[in-house]
Amino acid sequence: MTDSANQSVSNDDDICPRDVRAPRLPTPPHVPGIYPASVYRCAGPDQALAMLSGDTPGYIYQRDGHPNADMLAERCAELHHAQWAVITASGMSALSVAMLATCQRGDHIVVGEQLYGRSLQLLTAEANRLGIAATVVDTTDLAATTAAMTAKTCLLVVETISNPLLSVADIPQLAQLAHQFDARLLVDNTFATPLVCQPLAAGADLVLESVSKIMNGHSDVMLGLLCGMDSSLHIRARDILSIWGLASSPFDCWLAQRGLATLPLRLVRAMDNAQAIASSLCESPVVRQVWYPGLPQHPNHDLAQTQFRHNRFGWVVTFDLTGGLGAAQQFIAAADKIAFCPSLGEVSTTLSHPQSTSHRGLSADEQHRLGISGGTIRLSVGTESLESVLANLGQGLTEID
Ligand SMILES: *Cc1c(COP(=O)(O)O)cnc(C)c1O
Repeated sequence: MTDSANQSVSNDDDICPRDVRAPRLPTPPHVPGIYPASVYRCAGPDQALAMLSGDTPGYIYQRDGHPNADMLAERCAELHHAQWAVITASGMSALSVAMLATCQRGDHIVVGEQLYGRSLQLLTAEANRLGIAATVVDTTDLAATTAAMTAKTCLLVVETISNPLLSVADIPQLAQLAHQFDARLLVDNTFATPLVCQPLAAGADLVLESVSKIMNGHSDVMLGLLCGMDSSLHIRARDILSIWGLASSPFDCWLAQRGLATLPLRLVRAMDNAQAIASSLCESPVVRQVWYPGLPQHPNHDLAQTQFRHNRFGWVVTFDLTGGLGAAQQFIAAADKIAFCPSLGEVSTTLSHPQSTSHRGLSADEQHRLGISGGTIRLSVGTESLESVLANLGQGLTEID
C-alpha cells in the first residue's frame, strides 16, 4: 500500500465519525424536527450537574427526557388542562408509572372489573408480587366500590368508557369516594380522549391514555400518556419513567404529534358515524343487543350526557348477534371489507371479537357476568363515509343464517 492510500484511509476515519451540527437555517422549519439523539453535549461539568439535578431545564440523556416527548406532553397537558404530563413507551407503561409513583409495599388498590385485560393483570397479579394488595370490583356499583375501599387504599382505578360493553364511570362520585379514603382516582381515558371527557376537571387525580389508539389514530405508534394536577407526582413520574426504563421513542412521539393535529376532525367524523351505526344496528333482525352510550337505552346514557362534551359518546360500538359464535364467524367472514384487528382507534373501521381476543383469559362465567358472548362484536368506527361503513356492515349481517 502506498503512503497516499494510507493517508486517505486515515482521513476517512476522521471525517466519517466527525460530529454533525444542525445547519443554521435562515427560515425556521414550519414543523418540529425529530430529535433521535440519545445523548446531548454539555458545555461543562457545571451545566451537566445543574441539568442532572433538575436545577436547570435541558436534555442530557434521551431516557431522562427528549424534545419530542416534551412537545407531545405539553400538547396533551393542555388538552386535559393538566398541571403536568409525561409520555411513556406505551399505555401499559403509563399505568406502570402511575402505580409505581403512588403505591408502596403494603398498600391496596381498588380496580374496576371491566378494565383492559393487561391493566387488570398489572394491578392484581403483578402488584401482588410487589406486596400491593388489590380488590377487583364493579365500579359502576357505588356501594360495592365503597365496601372495597380500606384505610390502606392508595389508588382507585377505572376507565371512563369500558371495553367492550362501554359502561361509563361516574368520575365525580368516584373521585369523592377515593378522597374520603385519602386515595387517588386514576382514570384510563383511552376510549374517550380529552375531546369527549376531561377526568381531571371532574375530580380525578391522574389520567392515563394509550396514545397507541385514537390519539395517534393511524395504528403505527406505541405510546402512553400520564397526566395529573399534583406537581410532586410529576417529579416522581419522571424519575420512575427513567429508572424503570419506560421512556418513549422520539420518532413515535413525532408521529403521534402529527396524528394529534387531526384528532378533532377524525373524532367528530368517527363519533357521528358511530352514533348512526349504533341506531342502524338496533334495527337489524339478527342483532340481539347494541351497546353505545349515545343510545337512550344504554344503562349509563344519562350519566354520559352530563359527563361527556359536545353531546358525543365515543367511536366504539359493541353488538351481540342473536346466533352466537356461529353467527359471529359468518359475519366476520362476510364483512371482509372491515379488517378484523384486535385493537382499536384508527382512521379505518375495524372489528374485534372480544371472546377470542381481549377477554379470552376470563372464565366462561366471568365472560357471561360481563355480558360477553360468542356473538359479541366490537366495532372501532373510522372516518370513512357513513354509507360505506353501513354497506360493509350490511354485507356481513345479510350473510348470517
Ligand atoms: C390499548 C389499551 C391500553 C394499553 O395501551 P398500550 O398502548 O397498548 O400499552 C390500556 N387501556 C386501554 C383502555 C386500552 O385500550
